[in-house]
Amino acid sequence: MLPSAAVQEVRSPSMPVNCIVIENATAILPDRLLPDARVVLRDGRIAAVGRSRRSAPRDAQVIDARGGYVSPGFVDVHVHGGGGADFMDGTPDAVRTVCAVHARHGTTTIFPTTTTGAPEEIHAMIAACRVVRDEGRDDISRIAGIHLYGPFFAPDKVGCHAEEGRRDPTPEEFSRYFATGLVRIATCAAELPGAGAFFRKARREGCFITCGHSNASWTEMDRAFAAGMRHVDHFWCAMSSVSSVRARLGTPMQGSMEQYVLLNPEMSTEVIADGQHLSAELLTFAHRMLGPHRLFLVTDASRAVDMPPGRYRFGHIKTGTDFDHDGKVGRAPQGGLASSSMGMDHMVRTMLEATGAPLWEVVRMASLTPAERTGLADEVGSLTVGKRADVVVLSPRLKVRQVIVGGRVAHGA
Ligand SMILES: [Zn+2]
Repeated sequence: MLPSAAVQEVRSPSMPVNCIVIENATAILPDRLLPDARVVLRDGRIAAVGRSRRSAPRDAQVIDARGGYVSPGFVDVHVHGGGGADFMDGTPDAVRTVCAVHARHGTTTIFPTTTTGAPEEIHAMIAACRVVRDEGRDDISRIAGIHLYGPFFAPDKVGCHAEEGRRDPTPEEFSRYFATGLVRIATCAAELPGAGAFFRKARREGCFITCGHSNASWTEMDRAFAAGMRHVDHFWCAMSSVSSVRARLGTPMQGSMEQYVLLNPEMSTEVIADGQHLSAELLTFAHRMLGPHRLFLVTDASRAVDMPPGRYRFGHIKTGTDFDHDGKVGRAPQGGLASSSMGMDHMVRTMLEATGAPLWEVVRMASLTPAERTGLADEVGSLTVGKRADVVVLSPRLKVRQVIVGGRVAHGA
């Protein structure tokens, strides 16, 4: 922690002032709570985190947290949409809409996530995200990279994604996505022909590599691990179990993705903690078995976030699939869940209530852990001096009051 004197240097009146001081807050650190804290943000960086003693620097904008919390901004690595838009709509406007909605829910770093779809749709989505990323806006969630999620899913684990948009990976197709330089997270079902080449290419590109929408066996997971795979998308959703692997490969019964993640200490996974996908005991089980360094939270949110109940489309607005948003979650017409309808603040509150874990552990799972796993932890994920000033001010009941992106208030006066 820096002494607060370090932020009281004299500035000439002509210099643009960008100093925010958050007072009367409990700071949520990666390993504990710091009551009676003051957080100083200057020129887009976290300049000090400590006990409040002196009065705020004269040029500062002071935010009184009124006894609430100051948290690092959330990092969401698996998110499709919000505010009526899906990233797959493939226009800069759609991308801005989604990033604005998730910023209001505390997400300051976002990885737009592809669904199944035609190659042209995926390229349009990546191009639209590049436009918005390059705008460098500080009033919406910042795009840290693309999560190439669809289309390389197993045919029997497509979930709510459009089936026609699913295929096996080929170097001709996936090398063009990687060539954009924007793909930072790469998902593929481990049992597909061509998965090994996909994983090795993703590793050469420095991606965080994940297996999802898959019915893989232990052996297939082990092969994928050797090729660089280190993560499984939304634990227990659209993934294999011992019985699903038996149905596919017969006896003797074999280990599945579930056992592989639990037993291999280098593997991580994520949960959709919206209270609709997984029960409280499953969230507790995942937290106890994996801990806050190997488990993190994602929204996996659809375009239904902050939208009234009704029928919506998952994925591309024209070629996606229909689902019904009941105000809590998306449901496919044939039954089955179709993505969450909630922002990350909701996931934090649900995980806290379900697990009884300390608040700092739950917030870590929404910020530092996903930042570490995706290689962003030097820059974001915790209230650490020198990191980007991505901060959320929360009420005592963990409702979002203000969101600060890169040192500027993006949401909440
Ligand atoms: Zn999924």
